[in-house]
Amino acid sequence: MNVGFIGLGKMGAAIASNLLRAGNQLTVYNRSAEKTEPLAKEGAQVAKTPAEAATRSEAIFTMLADDQAVAAVVLGENGVASGMGKNSVHISSSTISVPFARLLAEEHTRRGQAFLSAPVFGRPEAAAAKKLLVVAAGDQATVERLQPLFDAIGRRTFFAGGEPWHANAFKLCGNFMICSAIETFSEAFTTLRKAGLAHKEFLEIMVELFGSPVYQNYGTALANRAFEPAGFGLRLGLKDIRQVLEFAQELHAPMPLASLMCDHLSAAMANGYQDSDWTAVQRVLERNAGL
Ligand code: NAP
Repeated sequence: MNVGFIGLGKMGAAIASNLLRAGNQLTVYNRSAEKTEPLAKEGAQVAKTPAEAATRSEAIFTMLADDQAVAAVVLGENGVASGMGKNSVHISSSTISVPFARLLAEEHTRRGQAFLSAPVFGRPEAAAAKKLLVVAAGDQATVERLQPLFDAIGRRTFFAGGEPWHANAFKLCGNFMICSAIETFSEAFTTLRKAGLAHKEFLEIMVELFGSPVYQNYGTALANRAFEPAGFGLRLGLKDIRQVLEFAQELHAPMPLASLMCDHLSAAMANGYQDSDWTAVQRVLERNAGL
């Protein structure tokens, strides 16, 4: 299939490479052009604009930082929407807000274009290993038709519902759950370290109890205080918790834990950890405990 891919950051570079290796004809675009070079060496075509990438593609992925980036790349001048043909589908895999996902769906519908949301769970290492969990939403027949693309990038695809924003709501609530694991590990590790106890033994017990990739991988990173280099940046993590809070507030569904974590992530930003992984929130808990 002719596939386009826009956004070759930590996640996008790995996902695009797997789409290429699965035998698709890939066209890539990235704002900072140098990030296209490794994929061009693997055989990808490089487009000069998002519109050019979209024109060449039956399915065009975007994997960009946030709402603003997706708005610029999709709806801006020479954007994806201006290049898409009638038979092409835009697949938005970025973690974006629910209102913006609704707006994107409206904009594509107005132009007679197909649009799916397909955000993913898994960090860059999982993306490289094709182990992502893909959460797709939108027209079910289109999701089913594009299943080979999702199989090329992940280990399982879930269908979240008939409107694209349904997948974004799942993704944001999922990131809230992951962040809550970071918060609880950080609080427990800090207390155990303050008591001079073996918090790495504690990790082994917790992984046995709660066993999951999130507990294993985030627990190990937090036990080792491995905050750099960032796999998932603090800035992006804060964006997600703010977005889940906005979504909940719109529904009058209180999420007190999300509010607390939003404050801790903000404090981590204010204390200069903006380029660290979002696990660096543990430093805030440590400082609060006088460690
Ligand atoms: P990243 O490494 O920071 O990459 C961000 C990408 O967005 C880059 O390609 C960047 O282009 C582009 N970008 C940012 N602002 C832009 C703008 N105004 N116009 C055009 N392009 C712009 O981020 P990432 O970790 O790959 O995350 C990408 C998305 O996946 C985010 O929505 C994130 O929440 C989500 N996600 C991340 C993870 C993870 O563990 N990292 C896991 C699941 C989902 P440049 O190269 O030019 O800066």
